[in-house]
Amino acid sequence: MATELTRNFSIIAHIDHGKTTLSDRLLEFTQTISEREKQDQLLDAMDLEREKGITIKSHPVAMQYTAKDGVTYRLNLLDTPGHVDFSYEVARSLAACEGAILMVDAAQGVEAQTMANLHLAMGQNLIIIPVLNKIDLPAADVDKCKQQLEDILAIPAEDAIPASAKNGIGIEEILEAVVARVPAPIENEDKLLRASVFDSVYDAYRGVISYVRVFSGTIRKRQRIKLFATGKTYEVKEVGVFTPKMTERDELIAGDVGYVIANMKSADEAKIGDTLTDATHPCPEALPGYKEIQPMVFSGIYPVDSSDYEGLKTAMGKLQINDAAFSYSSESSTALGFGFRCGFLGLLHMEIIQERLRREFNMDVISTYPSVIYEVTKTSGEDVIVDNPSFLPEPQEIQEIREPMVKVYLMIPGEYIGDMMALVMEKRGDVVHTETIDDTRVMLTCELPLSEILVDFNDRMKSMTRGYGSMDYEHHGYRPAKMVKMDMLIASEPVEAFSTIVHRDKAEGYGRALALKLKEVIPQQLFVVAIQACIGGKIVASERISAMRKNVTAKCYGGDITRKRKLLEKQKKGKEKMKQFGKVSIPQEAFIKVLKSG
Ligand code: GDP
Repeated sequence: MATELTRNFSIIAHIDHGKTTLSDRLLEFTQTISEREKQDQLLDAMDLEREKGITIKSHPVAMQYTAKDGVTYRLNLLDTPGHVDFSYEVARSLAACEGAILMVDAAQGVEAQTMANLHLAMGQNLIIIPVLNKIDLPAADVDKCKQQLEDILAIPAEDAIPASAKNGIGIEEILEAVVARVPAPIENEDKLLRASVFDSVYDAYRGVISYVRVFSGTIRKRQRIKLFATGKTYEVKEVGVFTPKMTERDELIAGDVGYVIANMKSADEAKIGDTLTDATHPCPEALPGYKEIQPMVFSGIYPVDSSDYEGLKTAMGKLQINDAAFSYSSESSTALGFGFRCGFLGLLHMEIIQERLRREFNMDVISTYPSVIYEVTKTSGEDVIVDNPSFLPEPQEIQEIREPMVKVYLMIPGEYIGDMMALVMEKRGDVVHTETIDDTRVMLTCELPLSEILVDFNDRMKSMTRGYGSMDYEHHGYRPAKMVKMDMLIASEPVEAFSTIVHRDKAEGYGRALALKLKEVIPQQLFVVAIQACIGGKIVASERISAMRKNVTAKCYGGDITRKRKLLEKQKKGKEKMKQFGKVSIPQEAFIKVLKSG
């Protein structure tokens, strides 16, 4: 279909505001999908995605819509992942569009979770179509929401379309607005092939399927193409569009959204954000916006049973073929044996990979405390990146350490503002902006270290606000911080599985808590064991485990020989899983308990 009849858009919405329901309605209204197919499609979705209520992979859909002007348009709806871990993918998908529908639940009002994506869309000059959904609910307050659009988001209220995705109200108006307000794609005059890869999936039979948006030129079967990031060339095996099933086409032209299959064997060959061009007549430069994906969070993953190591390695390889954002390399630890250092986009991404290892590959794994990446300038002037406490240079070699920051948007009921500010301060953050949203809610804009929001920030915010708070964040560069490496010594031996990088001011507290936890899980020995938290040779917290006196069988009275034997056998078995640190043996269980509790 001609470029001027194409409209590319996506939907930005806070979770539960109705994005999925609206997408389904649009597909039904344009008769792109039948009731039957809808069921099948739902069944295809990854279990994890459904459980977590997020889309991890973007699935574009092409619809044909005959507008009131009698002309038939092609509307490409690009889905975006709904979580900040995947904000780069979101940015690339939005860059493939000319417009975005901003969905707001009219009974809830504007929420924090839409802020970062809306900023991305506005930053790319997309046309925003605000939709106020759920107007069928008695609690819906369209006027109030319009006011919020103007006040908070600077979006003209008269642009807003009232709708009920559930009852099918406003669907045609939304489609008409997409046709009328979203501009048609504009092709570059030189007409050289430029297509941006905004996602890629791996198929065991067909290899990598790249999702592309063509900005100029044409791409067709048997064409020789080149990718900018890798410089590699390929022959195109198939091109097509999503209707929503993958449907082969002869060619994709400027403005089209579709897929390209070209004999790529692993997800990292088709890098998200990369530009695809013709190998013989390449465009002079890549489309803007490409970034190498950087993992933000690292953690060690070890098999609980060391004989599972090879199996775990195979599983990781398979996961990586599918997911170029996941990285891993072998590492070993005295405490945990052989395992892997893994890099993730964020905590949710980490959880997803761990869950998949458990569910799809039946792996029982233990992961170490997550760590962010620090930038370190050494006194020698050299800059190094540190993702593992073991590799932090010695204190005297460090000139400056910088830690990653995030900008956090918090939408909370006004009555909790004091508590919330205290939490932000406890987490070493600053509130940079406070805005009243309506008579009950405020929005706080804060800057916080990423490491501080990794573990329990969201949970504590939710419980503090009785579930009414919402948050969103975006990455916000690096800032110098007084970070130090803290080691745990057990009977004077450092146990590197427990080493962490912490802020100097929090080191004592953290060290004390960890020492106490270790005291609980390390069994008594025949001698007194000292547990010490240590920074650069200085002890900042310590605990003692007193010596064991009683014989292990003493509590079995005389005659019960079976019980006695069982106990001894159990003890022997336990020994096999003990790790020796100097004079002290620590059961593997103890590591698992401490590392799992974070
Ligand atoms: P998403 O998380 O943004 O994809 O939201 P969903 O589309 O899954 O919708 C979340 C919930 O809101 C579901 O229970 C929907 O049935 C409901 N919902 C969606 N649109 C409407 C609407 O217009 N009116 C009402 N009353 N409920 C709606």
